[in-house]
Amino acid sequence: MAFKTIIEPFRIKMVEPLRITTPEERYRILDQAHHNLFLIKADDILIDLLTDSGTSAMSAAQWARMMEGDESYAGCHSFFDFEKVVKDLTGLKHIFPVHQGRAAERILFSLIGGKGKTIINNTHFDTTRANVEFSGAEALDLVVAQGLDPELDVPFKGNMDTDALEQAIRERGPENVPLVLLTITNNSGGGQPVSMANIRETRKICNRFGIPLFFDACRFAENAYFIQQGEAGFKDWPIPKIVREMFSNVDGATMSAKKDALVNIGGFLAVNSDELSDQIRNLEILTEGYPTYGGLAGRDLAAMAQGLQEVVDQSYLEYRIRSTQYLGNALIKSGIPVLKPIGGHAVYLNAKAMLPHIPVHQFPGQVLACALYLEGGIRSVEIGSLMFGKKDHRGAEVPAKLELVRLAIPRRVYTQSHIDYVIEVIQSVFQKRHDLRGLQICQEAPYLRHFTAHLKPIQE
Ligand SMILES: *Cc1c(COP(=O)(O)O)cnc(C)c1O
Repeated sequence: MAFKTIIEPFRIKMVEPLRITTPEERYRILDQAHHNLFLIKADDILIDLLTDSGTSAMSAAQWARMMEGDESYAGCHSFFDFEKVVKDLTGLKHIFPVHQGRAAERILFSLIGGKGKTIINNTHFDTTRANVEFSGAEALDLVVAQGLDPELDVPFKGNMDTDALEQAIRERGPENVPLVLLTITNNSGGGQPVSMANIRETRKICNRFGIPLFFDACRFAENAYFIQQGEAGFKDWPIPKIVREMFSNVDGATMSAKKDALVNIGGFLAVNSDELSDQIRNLEILTEGYPTYGGLAGRDLAAMAQGLQEVVDQSYLEYRIRSTQYLGNALIKSGIPVLKPIGGHAVYLNAKAMLPHIPVHQFPGQVLACALYLEGGIRSVEIGSLMFGKKDHRGAEVPAKLELVRLAIPRRVYTQSHIDYVIEVIQSVFQKRHDLRGLQICQEAPYLRHFTAHLKPIQE
């Protein structure tokens, strides 16, 4: 098609009303939620960009498949349908459904992690890091240096620094590195993709030392689209072929189906090793359930099987990635500082650049996230010193490297006019940015404080 407008490749036949609040209501709601957007009821949000996890709209075909879900305890046909889809997509041998990504992580790292071990990743997602560290192992991030510069507009900023990888393996000894992971796309690094060349190079290094390589595969289809569009040699490859080629380089994968399987709950752990598979099966029965349902209903497996086929559709992915870019590019055009290039599932506002008058210990990212809510009822999430700030041994705050606000885009949920509204709200906040004032914490938990912390505006 020669038209420049990219449309949502679906129409809507079931709708949910959105509640529009007044600015006065939002002031009261934010105040009662102690300036923490996690503490606001979803009914009081107009456009919810908190996360793309588990927030997808399912298709008519997925709902239809759910009605046919087989709820037999053992050997349900929904499992075998699901298993076939995952095997066809990935080529991996043993497929274990789990209730979500972190369940796969817990099983995997309790088997291969432990004290004295190091797991290497481009960037560990927070639950991945937590599960690695809970096992006693070290979680080492070795993303390329470009991946840490929010302004640098180069492709494949999610790549592994392969020189650093080789050096880290030599330093620690290959016997102490039970696994290397590539997170595709690199969620914590801004939804940036990993190139096929980098996947292959990482594989080569792992082969040299006899170390297995896994994907954290949550956004494998979005990553494949970036390869098709941005890496030489893949322009004519259909997405399923690129996916298969990506997975041909790994020995296994963890997957949160709440992302690129277009479902609200689910996940899987897939491995080639027969020995590891036996261990996983035993552990899965202990905590998740029998391996043909893995803590899910048969209908959940059916919805995942259908979603995994829909997500590799070319027009879906074009709509998905281009609509994220639509938001990001409109903000760039208005002079609003965002992380570049625009990633697959989210746009990240650079709060440090936008609010230079608010020092990092006054949480400029959280200030901006609260301002977006007050201005237009939009929920985003701070990814900065509230989420990742630490205390040093004397109890003083050590700020995060970046102060970002993530606008995550749920899949197939919002239309272009919703996004146009989001753009307008952000532009309006941008114009008033000099009036925004810092926040201070009045109550916090010892870890993962951003979920529950109470904050208040600093009075001058
Ligand atoms: C969401 C996510 C996970 C964890 O999955 P859950 O389903 O939330 O448990 C792990 N890794 C990455 C990259 C993710 O985005």
